Amino acid sequence: MPWLDAALLGLLGLLVGSFLNVVIHRLPRMMELRWAAECADLQRDAAGGAATAAMPVEHFNLMVPRSRCPKCGHQIRWYENIPVLSYLVLRGRCSQCATPIGLRYPLVELVAGALFAWCGWQWGLGWESLAWAGFCAALLALTGIDWDTTLLPDDITLPLLWAGLLVAALGVSQVSLADAFWGAVGGYLSLWLVYWGFRLLTGKEGMGYGDFKLFAALGAWLGWQALIPVILLASVIGALVGIAIKLRGRLREGGYVPFGPFLALGGISALLFGPQALLALIGLA
Ligand SMILES: [Zn+2]
Repeated sequence: MPWLDAALLGLLGLLVGSFLNVVIHRLPRMMELRWAAECADLQRDAAGGAATAAMPVEHFNLMVPRSRCPKCGHQIRWYENIPVLSYLVLRGRCSQCATPIGLRYPLVELVAGALFAWCGWQWGLGWESLAWAGFCAALLALTGIDWDTTLLPDDITLPLLWAGLLVAALGVSQVSLADAFWGAVGGYLSLWLVYWGFRLLTGKEGMGYGDFKLFAALGAWLGWQALIPVILLASVIGALVGIAIKLRGRLREGGYVPFGPFLALGGISALLFGPQALLALIGLA
């Protein structure tokens, strides 16, 4: 009964989506705190190691503190935190101060739920569907974080890359280990070469190292055969969205449009439709 598997995984996806919202919101802040602590260490070392007053440790991670309304500090109760449903019941507003809650929260939950359900439908309940559901979840988190901060945290890209190789090595996915390996190598090297070529020609940085790692991870999961379709789709859609943002005058400082979300979109599209369909879509097949 594929619909039962789809429903179960879809439900799991809604819950995971709720967690992804926390990751998107907090991981960049956690990285900032870590950098600040490292900088303070360096400065202290440079100053001769004197005055080693203990830094006040701020307890801030994915679990603590509990989520609060950013406006009034109202602590979100468990029944106000049910994926999608709470958003509808609260009509998208804080129950205390009626500050609007971003539409992104239920949207991330819905997309995660839909992708997980699709995995359940495709492969039934098992390691293969769970692996691909995890792949989708990681890409969703990276999309949100890169869009907000133009960062692709190593904390997600590198485990995703290793997981892709592991899943292939264990035979959980249909991708052979050789295809996964060359996908990872090709993904990293190709963007690395584009980066240095662009930099030598123009003196500018066209993308960040996080993009190479993400593309390597996509190659590890999908096999090298997916690299060209994924990069073409990501480039075309990224360029279109970049132009649209520019025309609407919404370009952020430095004119930078993060590329990670489009790579992630390419990766998920390759999973859903297959690399060949992507090529056909772009009109090259
Ligand atoms: Zn509030």
